[in-house]
Amino acid sequence: MSLLSPRVDRIKPSPSSAATQRARELRAAGRDVIALTAGEPDFPTPPHVCEAAVEAMKRGETRYTTIDGTPEVKEAIRAKFKRENGLEYASYQIAVANGAKHIIFNALMATLAPGDEVIIPAPHWVSYTDMTLLAEGVPVVLPCPEEQAFKLRAAQLEAAITPRTKWLLLNSPCNPSGATYSREELKALTDVVLRHPQVHILSDDVYEHIVFDGNRFCTPAQVEPGLFERTLTVNAVSKTYAMTGWRIGYAGGPATLIGAMRKIQSQSTTNASSVSQAAARAALNGPQDFVPERAAAFQARRDRVVALLSQIPGLRCHKPEGAFYLYPNCAGLMGKCTPAGRRIENDQDLAIYLLEAAEVAVVQGSAYSLSPYFRISIAASIELLEEACRRMQRACAQLV
Ligand code: PLP
Repeated sequence: MSLLSPRVDRIKPSPSSAATQRARELRAAGRDVIALTAGEPDFPTPPHVCEAAVEAMKRGETRYTTIDGTPEVKEAIRAKFKRENGLEYASYQIAVANGAKHIIFNALMATLAPGDEVIIPAPHWVSYTDMTLLAEGVPVVLPCPEEQAFKLRAAQLEAAITPRTKWLLLNSPCNPSGATYSREELKALTDVVLRHPQVHILSDDVYEHIVFDGNRFCTPAQVEPGLFERTLTVNAVSKTYAMTGWRIGYAGGPATLIGAMRKIQSQSTTNASSVSQAAARAALNGPQDFVPERAAAFQARRDRVVALLSQIPGLRCHKPEGAFYLYPNCAGLMGKCTPAGRRIENDQDLAIYLLEAAEVAVVQGSAYSLSPYFRISIAASIELLEEACRRMQRACAQLV
């Protein structure tokens, strides 16, 4: 009898983590690799947040807390949802866990029975499909091509809904495409969901504050109050406050679901770190002025890198409306040959070639279920991004 459960074979390790790890290994071996694979801001956690963590430790906040968050951090989250999203949750409608990833994992584990379907617009964050599979659900991946700005359309959603559909997973701004739904675009989708009472929305809003060109962020429960009881609004301090390592994610949603998520968490991780919860509270309650400043820095980098990538023959780069990734189309390079005579058949081959020939690490579009593309993280200095573009330009020019 095998030691390992068949569950392990259903999923793959995160391709973006694997690409980051490969870049790290090459760097350790002395190669000058520029890794544009990471899904985390390159800014530091704000000093007042770090100080709040130190103060919490000095006060002795180093013990178990309530499973799904201290009353203090829940209060800060309640205030945030009200202030920024116009959403009013009671404390028992809020969950706190070890990152948005853990929140989503708990939600899927708490709701999916074998065969339940989860609609996932593609390109999508790598973990949605694998977490659905772990929870014995069926990912229903809907391709949202560049011609529709990588966004799900109402008719597409309507056609995909079945009696087994439990969730529609929305992520705006989107990792990896940057697609950011306007109020009207969201309303078209929520109108469809309203007609199907078995369908719930999981809105992954972790890139809420990284929105460009003066666009306004919207979230489904705010756009359609009629779906408040059918929506889990997921967020985290990870991207907004450059706190990926602190591992604090949270959600507001229906009390029954929040209670079930708490039950699952009580038998797995218990509470998120007490010190991190104190830090998250300081981030949410503290000054917010640096948040738009950082978004403006990402916008400047986006503009520069989109301009540079557009000069590379064979690449075409859609301008993202939010998040900190670019998702260039590389159809023009498919079928070309490397100087060593290897054919570039797909975006994975291209990512391997860019790593070897340009020493630039990117993630292949197949990881996000929409090819041929690759993802570049612009969470790096403008100088490094420019150098990466120069290297990629040289390497792509050598393809024949
Ligand atoms: N959701 C999306 C769309 C992401 O891109 C990520 C991280 O890359 C997460 C969730 C995970 O966030 P956290 O670090 O808070 O678990």
